[in-house]
Amino acid sequence: MEEKEKPNQYNSLDKEFENKLRPSQFLDFAGQKNVISNLEIFVEAANRRGEGMDHVLLYGPPGLGKTTLANIIANELGSNLKITSGPVLDKPGDLAGLLTSLEDRDVLFIDEIHRLSTVIEEYLYSAMEDFRIDVMIESGPSARSVQINLNHFTLIGATTRAGLLSSPLRDRFGITSRLEYYDSDVLSSIILRSSSILEVGISKEAASEIASRSRGTPRIANALLRRIRDFALVKGNGDIDMAITDMALNSLNVDKNGLNQMDKKILNCMIEKFKGGPVGLTTISTAVGEEANTIEELYEPFLIKQGYLERTPRGRQVTQSAYDFLGKIRPGNQQTIF
Ligand code: ADP
Repeated sequence: MEEKEKPNQYNSLDKEFENKLRPSQFLDFAGQKNVISNLEIFVEAANRRGEGMDHVLLYGPPGLGKTTLANIIANELGSNLKITSGPVLDKPGDLAGLLTSLEDRDVLFIDEIHRLSTVIEEYLYSAMEDFRIDVMIESGPSARSVQINLNHFTLIGATTRAGLLSSPLRDRFGITSRLEYYDSDVLSSIILRSSSILEVGISKEAASEIASRSRGTPRIANALLRRIRDFALVKGNGDIDMAITDMALNSLNVDKNGLNQMDKKILNCMIEKFKGGPVGLTTISTAVGEEANTIEELYEPFLIKQGYLERTPRGRQVTQSAYDFLGKIRPGNQQTIF
């Protein structure tokens, strides 16, 4: 069976590879100029005052550098970083344990913060605002709540779905930064940097070819580089040039503008089965056999950015560009020949 290309599904080996390539200071973080220049100021101000930094909410599609930025902020603050995620934190006790272990100016990173349960979320409010939490001790009739003071930590929340955050939680972040897809030049510089860390030779043309086929996403650029490196080793002399890059990307079914099989499947399906839409997300999800969440968080933002898909009040709709790109004719655009 043909393997499905899923750019955002990765295992622990991939994680190890990612960590190796993760920049640890602002200087090495490419792109996102506005976000970075603001964060640099807030970190510097916190450092000068010797205080903790305000809580930060980072949002944007997967693989754009939210975890990396949390690492960099902790590093530049000279403090410790603790990492957890919304779905993992399911008991208030776990969160209390984490919060009380934080020292002054430490950073707590909560990935997928939109997936926190309501109980945990409400628990976070007083921790974020007053640096205090109420903990229940003992149980049964002698149960009572005790207030614990916390050190001045910084919470960094990351989400792919800022719209799913409740407004009380959103309001408690002093700094909110949205990460955008990267342009090809910036991605190219990330690929060149990664190649030098991996000690693999690469031509500038090959780097920009990989960049333009990486869906504007550093995680995908690095993942493609890793796979092309294998092709270069087995089919070439170890260095990455245009010929190897083209061969590898074609074998991996990554087309010229970065669309993968699932992107095309979504567009084709909408055109062939639903006359281009409007059609609801769950219907698309069932038709293509992919989870609605994954479509909404991973595939759709890029298709919208490329101008192939639109969100309308009545559902998702493909655009004329999608018809042109796939070489299909839009119903109604057919000329009647007598
Ligand atoms: P997210 O948390 O948004 O899903 P990550 O921070 O885990 O994304 O980034 C995924 C990979 O992409 C990491 O290996 C990281 O090194 C790389 N990366 C992301 N953004 C940048 C950047 N601006 N410059 C260099 N590398 C980056």
